[in-house]
Amino acid sequence: MTIDDQSHLKKEEENGTNPKINRYWIQRYDLFSRYDEGIQIDEEGWYSVTHEEIAINHAERCHGKVVIDCFAGVGGNTIQFAKVSSSVIAIDIDPMKVQMAMNNANVYGVANHVDFVVGDFFSLAPSLKGDVSFLSPPWGGPNYCKVESFKMDMLQPRDGYSLFKIVQSITPNIIMYLPKNVDLAQLEELASLSSPPLTLEIEESCIGGKMIAITAYFSRNAA
Ligand code: ADP
Repeated sequence: MTIDDQSHLKKEEENGTNPKINRYWIQRYDLFSRYDEGIQIDEEGWYSVTHEEIAINHAERCHGKVVIDCFAGVGGNTIQFAKVSSSVIAIDIDPMKVQMAMNNANVYGVANHVDFVVGDFFSLAPSLKGDVSFLSPPWGGPNYCKVESFKMDMLQPRDGYSLFKIVQSITPNIIMYLPKNVDLAQLEELASLSSPPLTLEIEESCIGGKMIAITAYFSRNAA
Protein backbone atom coordinates (compact mmCIF):
# COMPACT_ATOMS: atom_id res chain seq x y z
CA MET A 1 0.00 0.00 0.00
CA THR A 2 1.45 3.39 -0.99
CA ILE A 3 1.49 6.47 1.27
CA ASP A 4 -1.27 7.96 -0.97
CA ASP A 5 -3.42 4.84 -0.55
CA GLN A 6 -2.88 5.05 3.18
CA SER A 7 -3.94 8.68 3.49
CA HIS A 8 -6.98 7.95 1.29
CA LEU A 9 -7.86 5.01 3.56
CA LYS A 10 -7.32 7.24 6.60
CA LYS A 11 -9.77 9.83 5.20
CA GLU A 12 -12.31 7.10 4.50
CA GLU A 13 -11.81 5.75 8.01
CA GLU A 14 -12.38 9.18 9.48
CA ASN A 15 -15.56 9.60 7.45
CA GLY A 16 -16.61 6.02 8.11
CA THR A 17 -17.14 5.69 4.34
CA ASN A 18 -15.07 2.61 3.48
CA PRO A 19 -17.73 -0.11 3.63
CA LYS A 20 -15.10 -2.88 3.74
CA ILE A 21 -13.59 -1.67 6.99
CA ASN A 22 -16.58 0.07 8.52
CA ARG A 23 -17.52 -2.84 10.78
CA TYR A 24 -13.95 -2.92 12.08
CA TRP A 25 -13.66 0.88 12.35
CA ILE A 26 -16.60 1.10 14.71
CA GLN A 27 -14.62 -1.19 17.02
CA ARG A 28 -11.51 1.01 16.80
CA TYR A 29 -11.28 1.71 20.53
CA ASP A 30 -11.65 -2.02 21.27
CA LEU A 31 -8.68 -2.64 18.99
CA PHE A 32 -6.56 0.24 20.29
CA SER A 33 -7.89 2.19 23.27
CA ARG A 34 -5.44 4.97 22.30
CA TYR A 35 -6.67 4.98 18.69
CA ASP A 36 -7.14 8.76 18.66
CA GLU A 37 -3.51 9.40 19.61
CA GLY A 38 -2.17 8.58 16.14
CA ILE A 39 -2.65 4.82 15.66
CA GLN A 40 -2.03 3.66 12.08
CA ILE A 41 -3.79 0.65 10.54
CA ASP A 42 -3.98 -0.45 6.90
CA GLU A 43 -6.85 -2.41 5.39
CA GLU A 44 -5.37 -5.86 6.12
CA GLY A 45 -4.52 -4.64 9.61
CA TRP A 46 -8.17 -3.84 10.35
CA TYR A 47 -9.12 -7.47 9.64
CA SER A 48 -6.32 -9.08 11.55
CA VAL A 49 -5.33 -6.96 14.57
CA THR A 50 -6.11 -8.60 17.93
CA HIS A 51 -8.61 -6.81 20.18
CA GLU A 52 -6.70 -5.01 22.93
CA GLU A 53 -8.49 -6.82 25.79
CA ILE A 54 -7.49 -10.18 24.28
CA ALA A 55 -3.92 -9.04 23.59
CA ILE A 56 -3.65 -7.98 27.26
CA ASN A 57 -4.79 -11.47 28.23
CA HIS A 58 -2.17 -13.10 25.99
CA ALA A 59 0.51 -10.91 27.52
CA GLU A 60 -0.48 -11.92 31.07
CA ARG A 61 1.28 -15.25 30.44
CA CYS A 62 4.53 -13.60 29.36
CA HIS A 63 5.71 -11.56 32.34
CA GLY A 64 9.48 -11.17 32.28
CA LYS A 65 9.90 -13.36 29.18
CA VAL A 66 11.49 -12.77 25.79
CA VAL A 67 8.56 -12.96 23.38
CA ILE A 68 8.70 -13.44 19.62
CA ASP A 69 5.65 -12.03 17.84
CA CYS A 70 6.10 -13.99 14.61
CA PHE A 71 3.43 -12.29 12.43
CA ALA A 72 3.23 -8.96 14.23
CA GLY A 73 1.08 -6.99 11.76
CA VAL A 74 0.33 -3.46 13.00
CA GLY A 75 1.42 -4.40 16.51
CA GLY A 76 -1.72 -4.97 18.63
CA ASN A 77 -0.14 -7.92 20.46
CA THR A 78 3.41 -6.58 20.33
CA ILE A 79 2.37 -3.52 22.34
CA GLN A 80 0.81 -5.55 25.15
CA PHE A 81 3.75 -7.99 25.26
CA ALA A 82 6.14 -5.04 25.44
CA LYS A 83 4.38 -3.72 28.56
CA VAL A 84 5.07 -6.84 30.65
CA SER A 85 7.77 -8.96 29.03
CA SER A 86 11.51 -8.45 29.24
CA SER A 87 11.67 -7.79 25.49
CA VAL A 88 9.81 -8.46 22.25
CA ILE A 89 11.00 -9.39 18.77
CA ALA A 90 8.26 -8.27 16.38
CA ILE A 91 8.50 -9.73 12.88
CA ASP A 92 6.45 -9.00 9.79
CA ILE A 93 7.19 -9.55 6.13
CA ASP A 94 5.50 -6.30 5.11
CA PRO A 95 7.69 -3.21 5.72
CA MET A 96 4.61 -0.95 5.90
CA LYS A 97 3.15 -3.10 8.68
CA VAL A 98 6.40 -2.89 10.62
CA GLN A 99 6.46 0.88 10.18
CA MET A 100 2.90 1.10 11.50
CA ALA A 101 3.68 -1.27 14.38
CA MET A 102 6.64 0.96 15.34
CA ASN A 103 4.44 4.03 15.20
CA ASN A 104 1.75 2.32 17.28
CA ALA A 105 4.26 1.08 19.87
CA ASN A 106 5.46 4.68 20.13
CA VAL A 107 1.90 5.84 20.79
CA TYR A 108 1.83 3.43 23.75
CA GLY A 109 5.35 4.45 24.83
CA VAL A 110 6.77 0.92 24.59
CA ALA A 111 8.76 0.98 21.34
CA ASN A 112 12.08 0.81 23.20
CA HIS A 113 11.21 -2.71 24.48
CA VAL A 114 10.76 -4.03 20.95
CA ASP A 115 13.16 -5.16 18.22
CA PHE A 116 11.24 -4.67 14.99
CA VAL A 117 12.27 -6.93 12.13
CA VAL A 118 11.12 -6.82 8.51
CA GLY A 119 11.43 -10.35 7.22
CA ASP A 120 9.96 -13.74 6.46
CA PHE A 121 9.40 -15.58 9.73
CA PHE A 122 10.22 -18.92 8.08
CA SER A 123 13.65 -17.71 6.94
CA LEU A 124 14.38 -16.01 10.26
CA ALA A 125 13.23 -18.91 12.49
CA PRO A 126 16.57 -20.81 12.66
CA SER A 127 18.30 -17.73 14.06
CA LEU A 128 15.62 -16.73 16.59
CA LYS A 129 15.90 -17.19 20.35
CA GLY A 130 13.11 -16.51 22.83
CA ASP A 131 11.08 -17.90 25.74
CA VAL A 132 7.65 -17.70 24.11
CA SER A 133 6.58 -17.62 20.45
CA PHE A 134 3.29 -15.95 19.69
CA LEU A 135 1.63 -16.84 16.40
CA SER A 136 -1.28 -15.06 14.86
CA PRO A 137 -0.62 -16.38 11.36
CA PRO A 138 -2.71 -15.38 8.32
CA TRP A 139 -6.12 -17.04 8.58
CA GLY A 140 -6.76 -16.45 4.88
CA GLY A 141 -8.77 -13.23 5.31
CA PRO A 142 -12.33 -12.81 6.65
CA ASN A 143 -13.60 -15.91 4.77
CA TYR A 144 -12.27 -18.27 7.46
CA CYS A 145 -15.71 -18.24 9.13
CA LYS A 146 -17.43 -19.62 6.03
CA VAL A 147 -16.24 -23.16 6.73
CA GLU A 148 -17.70 -25.32 9.47
CA SER A 149 -14.34 -26.46 10.77
CA PHE A 150 -11.12 -24.49 10.18
CA LYS A 151 -8.33 -26.97 9.42
CA MET A 152 -4.60 -26.55 10.01
CA ASP A 153 -3.93 -26.74 6.27
CA MET A 154 -5.97 -23.54 5.79
CA LEU A 155 -3.37 -21.47 7.60
CA GLN A 156 -1.11 -19.46 5.30
CA PRO A 157 1.50 -19.19 3.91
CA ARG A 158 2.29 -22.68 5.32
CA ASP A 159 -0.04 -25.21 6.91
CA GLY A 160 -0.30 -25.37 10.70
CA TYR A 161 1.69 -28.60 11.04
CA SER A 162 4.76 -27.22 9.19
CA LEU A 163 4.43 -23.92 11.00
CA PHE A 164 4.26 -25.67 14.37
CA LYS A 165 7.31 -27.81 13.61
CA ILE A 166 9.34 -24.72 12.74
CA VAL A 167 8.22 -22.73 15.74
CA GLN A 168 8.89 -25.63 18.10
CA SER A 169 12.54 -25.54 17.13
CA ILE A 170 12.68 -22.11 18.84
CA THR A 171 10.79 -22.86 22.08
CA PRO A 172 8.09 -25.30 23.31
CA ASN A 173 6.17 -22.35 24.78
CA ILE A 174 3.87 -21.42 21.94
CA ILE A 175 0.74 -19.29 21.90
CA MET A 176 -1.45 -19.59 18.80
CA TYR A 177 -4.34 -17.23 18.11
CA LEU A 178 -6.75 -19.00 15.80
CA PRO A 179 -10.24 -18.85 14.30
CA LYS A 180 -13.06 -19.77 16.69
CA ASN A 181 -14.06 -22.65 14.40
CA VAL A 182 -10.57 -24.23 14.45
CA ASP A 183 -10.53 -28.04 14.64
CA LEU A 184 -9.65 -28.63 18.32
CA ALA A 185 -8.73 -32.27 17.64
CA GLN A 186 -5.97 -31.03 15.33
CA LEU A 187 -4.61 -28.81 18.12
CA GLU A 188 -4.59 -31.84 20.46
CA GLU A 189 -2.73 -33.68 17.74
CA LEU A 190 -0.09 -30.94 17.49
CA ALA A 191 0.51 -31.22 21.24
CA SER A 192 0.51 -35.02 21.45
CA LEU A 193 2.66 -35.62 18.36
CA SER A 194 5.39 -33.33 19.66
CA SER A 195 8.38 -35.05 21.11
CA PRO A 196 8.17 -34.94 24.10
CA PRO A 197 4.40 -34.24 24.07
CA LEU A 198 3.35 -30.73 25.03
CA THR A 199 0.65 -29.59 27.43
CA LEU A 200 -2.21 -27.80 25.69
CA GLU A 201 -4.59 -25.32 27.20
CA ILE A 202 -7.44 -23.97 25.09
CA GLU A 203 -8.97 -20.61 25.88
CA GLU A 204 -12.06 -19.06 24.33
CA SER A 205 -11.11 -15.49 23.46
CA CYS A 206 -14.23 -13.39 24.04
CA ILE A 207 -15.31 -9.80 23.53
CA GLY A 208 -18.50 -8.66 25.25
CA GLY A 209 -19.25 -12.26 26.23
CA LYS A 210 -19.06 -13.44 22.61
CA MET A 211 -16.36 -15.88 21.52
CA ILE A 212 -14.44 -14.37 18.60
CA ALA A 213 -11.36 -16.63 18.47
CA ILE A 214 -9.50 -19.46 20.17
CA THR A 215 -6.16 -19.12 21.91
CA ALA A 216 -4.06 -22.28 22.26
CA TYR A 217 -1.28 -22.27 24.85
CA PHE A 218 1.31 -25.03 24.33
CA SER A 219 4.06 -25.68 26.84
CA ARG A 220 6.47 -28.38 27.93
CA ASN A 221 5.18 -30.64 30.69
CA ALA A 222 6.77 -29.93 34.05
CA ALA A 223 9.17 -32.86 34.73
P1 ADP B 1 -5.34 -12.59 8.10
O1 ADP B 1 -5.52 -13.64 7.02
O2 ADP B 1 -5.57 -13.12 9.47
O3 ADP B 1 -6.05 -11.29 7.77
P2 ADP B 1 -2.91 -11.38 7.25
O4 ADP B 1 -2.91 -11.81 5.82
O5 ADP B 1 -3.24 -9.95 7.58
O6 ADP B 1 -3.80 -12.31 8.15
O7 ADP B 1 -1.46 -11.74 7.83
C1 ADP B 1 -1.14 -11.45 9.17
C2 ADP B 1 0.22 -10.79 9.17
O8 ADP B 1 1.23 -11.75 8.86
C3 ADP B 1 0.33 -9.68 8.12
O9 ADP B 1 0.79 -8.51 8.77
C4 ADP B 1 1.34 -10.21 7.12
O10 ADP B 1 2.13 -9.17 6.55
C5 ADP B 1 2.16 -11.12 7.99
N1 ADP B 1 2.88 -12.18 7.28
C6 ADP B 1 2.43 -12.97 6.27
N2 ADP B 1 3.37 -13.87 5.90
C7 ADP B 1 4.45 -13.67 6.69
C8 ADP B 1 5.73 -14.28 6.83
N3 ADP B 1 6.10 -15.30 6.05
N4 ADP B 1 6.59 -13.81 7.78
C9 ADP B 1 6.22 -12.79 8.58
N5 ADP B 1 5.02 -12.14 8.49
C10 ADP B 1 4.14 -12.57 7.58
